[in-house]
Amino acid sequence: MVESHSDDPRPRVYIVGGGFAGLEAARQLAGAPVQVTLLDRRNHHVFQPLLYQVATASLSPGDISAPIRTVLRGQANCDVALAGVTGVDLEGRRLFVEGGYVQYDFLVLAAGATHAYFGNDQWASVAPGLKSLEDAIDLRRRILLAFESAEYEGSLRARQAALTFGIVGAGPTGVELAGAIKEIAGKTIPEDYRHIDTRTTRVILFEAGDRVLPTFPEKLSQRAQRDLERLGVEVRLNAAVTDIHPGEVHISDEVIPVRNVFWAAGVKASPIGQSLGVPLDRSGRVQVGPDLTVPGHPEVFVAGDMAAATSADSGEPVPGVAPAALQMGRYAGKVIAREVAGSGKAGGTGPDRTPFVYRDKGMMAIIGKARAVATVGPLKAGGFLAWLLWGGIHIAFLIGFRNRVQVLLSWFWSWLLNARDVRLITGEATLELESPRPPDFVPMPGNAETGPENHSSPDRATPPEGTGASPDDTRTAGAEYSESDSPPSESPP
Ligand SMILES: Cc1cc2nc3c(=O)[nH]c(=O)nc-3n(C[C@H](O)[C@H](O)[C@H](O)COP(=O)(O)OP(=O)(O)OC[C@H]3O[C@@H](n4cnc5c(N)ncnc54)[C@H](O)[C@@H]3O)c2cc1C
Repeated sequence: MVESHSDDPRPRVYIVGGGFAGLEAARQLAGAPVQVTLLDRRNHHVFQPLLYQVATASLSPGDISAPIRTVLRGQANCDVALAGVTGVDLEGRRLFVEGGYVQYDFLVLAAGATHAYFGNDQWASVAPGLKSLEDAIDLRRRILLAFESAEYEGSLRARQAALTFGIVGAGPTGVELAGAIKEIAGKTIPEDYRHIDTRTTRVILFEAGDRVLPTFPEKLSQRAQRDLERLGVEVRLNAAVTDIHPGEVHISDEVIPVRNVFWAAGVKASPIGQSLGVPLDRSGRVQVGPDLTVPGHPEVFVAGDMAAATSADSGEPVPGVAPAALQMGRYAGKVIAREVAGSGKAGGTGPDRTPFVYRDKGMMAIIGKARAVATVGPLKAGGFLAWLLWGGIHIAFLIGFRNRVQVLLSWFWSWLLNARDVRLITGEATLELESPRPPDFVPMPGNAETGPENHSSPDRATPPEGTGASPDDTRTAGAEYSESDSPPSESPP
């Protein structure tokens, strides 16, 4: 349980979430006469817009994250607690954390969002999404293992399936992932493999709507689609995925064999919102008033991806993007600081607040190496210029000088050499082989875990395609060959 400093007379402000909104709210309270505690279930802030670059081996997890304690260490009135928040009692002003609760005077809820499978939660295990560093490392493992499996796969059908990636959802994340996987396969690794031509890798981008990047101007959507197709990505529009099973994606009656499916189609807000007992929108976001507070509770702000807010000037909904989260967090922090400084007490004076106005900073998406589409104010750009803009803005918003330098260097290195050097398979490295490829490999009957010394028989035979192992046979990489095994040369699939 997080302790509250009950002998400290200053109003207590609890902030849930050390993402864009929560951190910015905390920063605005520096120097204010309040005691702030920022709670996060992780000890680090993640720069989500670059998660796909961790998933595709361009950047390391540490390059796009920062310990929350370090970010806020200079702020004397702010504590940081590693704690998962489970709910809120609005009337009692209690915030529930694992193992207990704390009393607040002001609360800022900024716990972000998670994947939404539109009622098909069973797809989560076969079509993982990208929201955290763990997700990114898991996707990286799956992508790299697919190439390793294909290298030793004897069945042409299974090899082609291993070299096929499906991405569901053609928003910025889907587009960026698709382009990056195709680039790895086409430019980074072809020379690293002896038995497969990784350039034959298929990346299929499924989009239920009639264009990629649906929130962008139509011309930029068309440009992005052209750029994707030039890279070799297969764009399937009006293709709503109706079912996903291990190894296949269904589009109505059509079944497409795909070993790896990644989900980039939808998000839903943190479940903390449900505990409030107030109206939520379809994505589970809290419908906040013009001052970003829960109706009837001027002391409870909701910011970032958890909030369904409208901008006071335009009446337009505020989008779920990083600049919006930053602006909402800044607004909440400033309002609290001002009111506490003015009245010297907690409680909030909702009606007097200037309503929140969202300043639209534009949208961007990158498509492979040195190509992007961007809208910034009246400027609508594509190609290299948009890519430069994208790079500059992302570097500027990254937290930490080291991260900025590191990411810049990595990008320069990747750009120069098509390198993606963080190609680490971490966690379990299990190859999914239908029919192991080497001609001198004899699978040990019924024992997938057999060590090298147990299959050093001199008279090895090639298992006929499709019969060398059962379709669900999986083997741990490195357990299949003795030192003397020499891989066969074979034409690419
Ligand atoms: C893959 C990806 C790519 C994106 N690309 C872009 C882009 O290019 N441009 C753009 O503008 N936006 C992009 N976004 C969206 C943007 O990242 C979000 O809008 C933004 O992060 C929202 O900020 P937030 O502070 O609301 O939430 P988050 O940044 O998600 O932070 C929420 C924090 O709350 C913590 N938390 C969650 N639940 C609990 C709990 N129960 N208890 C305690 N702590 C909790 C989390 O650990 C996290 O630290 C992208 C998002 C993703 C996932």
